[in-house]
Amino acid sequence: MTTNEKRVLTQILYNGPLTKKEICKYCSFSWATAVKIVSQLERRKIITFKGTPRRKNVSGKDSAVYDISSEALLVLGMDVEYHRTHLALTNLKDEIITEFTLDTPVFTSVEHLELFIYQTLERFLSMHPNMELTGIGIVIPSFIIQTEQNIFQLLKENLSRKLPVPVQIDNIVRSYTLYKAHSMLAHENFLVVTIRSGIGVGIFVNDRIFRGDDMLSGELSHVTIDRQGEFCRCGKRGCLETKINQHILYQKYEEAYQTASSLEAGLHDLFSKAASGESAALGIIEEAADYLARGLSLLLLILNINRIYLSGHFGAHGDVIIKHIQRQLEKYLYARISYEIIYEPLQEHYFTSGARLLIYTDYLDYR
Ligand SMILES: [Zn+2]
Repeated sequence: MTTNEKRVLTQILYNGPLTKKEICKYCSFSWATAVKIVSQLERRKIITFKGTPRRKNVSGKDSAVYDISSEALLVLGMDVEYHRTHLALTNLKDEIITEFTLDTPVFTSVEHLELFIYQTLERFLSMHPNMELTGIGIVIPSFIIQTEQNIFQLLKENLSRKLPVPVQIDNIVRSYTLYKAHSMLAHENFLVVTIRSGIGVGIFVNDRIFRGDDMLSGELSHVTIDRQGEFCRCGKRGCLETKINQHILYQKYEEAYQTASSLEAGLHDLFSKAASGESAALGIIEEAADYLARGLSLLLLILNINRIYLSGHFGAHGDVIIKHIQRQLEKYLYARISYEIIYEPLQEHYFTSGARLLIYTDYLDYR
C-alpha cells in the first residue's frame, strides 16, 4: 500500500464516502493524482463507487462518491483474556462480520498457549474457507504465562510460519490504548489505566504507543507494594494487583454487604453505594484509591504525562473513586505536577478492535 493510497483510505474512513474533488482537498492531491489513486484502489476492490448523489452546485462525474468496500481488508482480532477469549472479524470500517467467544484454559506452558491460539484460529479459518483474510491481530496479557521468553516475539514468529496471513501480537492494554488513540484521532500524550484482573497501563506518547525494549511497558500491576505480601502470578510477592483489582473489590463488597451477584452488577452497586455516601462502600473505595494512587504517582513522577483515563467495569458511578485518588496523590506528588484523571467505563470491544488495528495500521496513514 503506497502512502497516497493510505491517505485516501484514511480520509474516507474518517470523513465518510468522498468525491474525487473532496479527496483532492482532504489529501492535498492534484486532480490527476486523485483520479489515479481512486482507480487503483477501485481496481483492487478496496474502494467502491457508491453512486452520484445530488449535491449543491455539483453534477455529473464530479459528484461520484467512493467508499471503502465492506468486503475488502477483512481482519480478525483475537483477545485472549485470562478467563475468556473473544474473536471478531471486521472490515476496515469496523463493521463486525462475525464474532465468537470461548473459555480461555489455564495455560501450563508457552507451547500450550501457542497451541490454543493456533487451534482456535485454524477452527475459525476452516469455518470460513472462501474468505480473503488480510491479517490476524492477537492481544494477550503479558503475564498470561510465567516465562522468561519474549512471548510476543516468539508467538509472532511461530504463528506467522504456520498461518497463511500476516500475524501481529501485542499486549492487551496497549491494544486498548491504540484503539482509543485511533478513535479519538489523538495527538496529545495520554495514559490509559485499566483495572480488571490486573492493573494495566497503555502509554500513548509522541503520537505512538510506547511498547518498551522487551515489549513489557505498562506493567503497573507488578510494582511491589508489600514485600511480605501474597504471591503474584508474575512470580513475585505483594504486587499492586494483589492489593487492588476488580475481583478484590468485588470480594470486599460481598463481605461487607453479605450479598452475592455477578461481578459487574456487584461492582456497579459498590460504586453506586459509595457515591451515595454509604460508609462501608466508601471504606472499600478509599482503600483501593490509596493503592492506586501509589501506582499512579510513579507514572506521573516519571512520565509527566498529564492526562490519565482510568477504566473499569464500575458502572455509571465509577468516577466516585477519582476524588479519593486525588486526595491520596497529594501525599505522593509535589504541587508542580498537574494532572487530570478521567473515569471511563471499560469498553470490552476496544481489545479486539485494537488487535485488528495492529494489522490496519499498515493501511492507514494515521500512525
Ligand atoms: Zn506481580
